Amino acid sequence: MRRNVKERDISLYPDIQMIIRCYMSLFLNKLPMNTLSIEDFISGIPKAELHLHIEGTFEPELMSKIAKRNNKKIKYQSIEELKQAYNFNNLQDFLNIYYESAGVLIEEQDFYEMTWAYLKKVHTQNLVHAEIFFDPQTHTDRGIKFSTVIDGIHRALEDARNKLGISSKLIMCFLRHLDEEAAIHTLKEALEYKDWITAVGLDSSEVYNPPSKFQRVFEKAKKENLLTVAHAGEEGPAEYIWEALRLLKVSRVDHGNHCLVDENLIKELVKKKIPLTVCPLSNLKLKVVQDLKQHPLRKMMDKGLLVTINSDDPAYFGGYVNENYLAITKALNLSKEDICQLAKNSFAASFLDEEKKQQMMKQVDKYYQENR
Ligand SMILES: [Zn+2]
Repeated sequence: MRRNVKERDISLYPDIQMIIRCYMSLFLNKLPMNTLSIEDFISGIPKAELHLHIEGTFEPELMSKIAKRNNKKIKYQSIEELKQAYNFNNLQDFLNIYYESAGVLIEEQDFYEMTWAYLKKVHTQNLVHAEIFFDPQTHTDRGIKFSTVIDGIHRALEDARNKLGISSKLIMCFLRHLDEEAAIHTLKEALEYKDWITAVGLDSSEVYNPPSKFQRVFEKAKKENLLTVAHAGEEGPAEYIWEALRLLKVSRVDHGNHCLVDENLIKELVKKKIPLTVCPLSNLKLKVVQDLKQHPLRKMMDKGLLVTINSDDPAYFGGYVNENYLAITKALNLSKEDICQLAKNSFAASFLDEEKKQQMMKQVDKYYQENR
């Protein structure tokens, strides 16, 4: 049988055929579909955020706008001066500006706009699930009704679910520098809105305010089928993490950096798969670490701890969730595989149901396969 010219010509060059086959196989099977820069890889990966104080997302521009609308005098004459105040150098300066800013929030619409601004921002960062802290006592102590606060936040969360496709859970935090009686009173007020609240937490100044101070109110919350979390081991010692586990029965520890000094505690956290919500830029700004290169995240991952990356108070600490991923990636030379693991952890550590967790983790794996 006569062979056509094309077949005959190629068959003369078996080496070239082999080389072509090798390249084809490389391109089809071995190489990723699309190689992204580390910035773009972080930007596009689906992720959840689990440690975010909604009052900590209040940007100077929005704060100034709402202050004017509510005729609230603030001690800063211009946006520039206000931005300068956000550029604080220590914890006390941070708390001063934080509470001053929160003081301009009066109406339900104010809480809505603050929450909506955060959700719109993180939507551009491919955040698909947010578990948000709010501090009702910061507002009820200055005469704002509990309902005003939660109605505004909840409405924005519903809008984000419907318009942006971001799912969410709400976590009500008790201010630990206040006493337990005040926390119990706040819990009572919250029970009317139990369907909107997934968990209770503990925030504000950690040192001298151990978890044990709030054991009773956490027991009451548990009886109401609320989950529990607590900030522990950020400024406070490893012992506070033990207390959060044993006395407050937390499902997650917020920060938890200081667990690394106690091998038994590490074993316990690993064995029970208790997640730690780590906040790199917050740790840097509040001087929990002096340099991000010394941040313990890598060590935590190597120990098998279920760690996640979060922004804490992004308007004050220099970045939202993606900026946190990028800063720690650069400081610790994390790989795309590490970033993929952290994004999967963010879903594994969330309060989503098991089926949704698995679905989201598969999406992260798919993204990694296509973009590594
Ligand atoms: Zn926090």
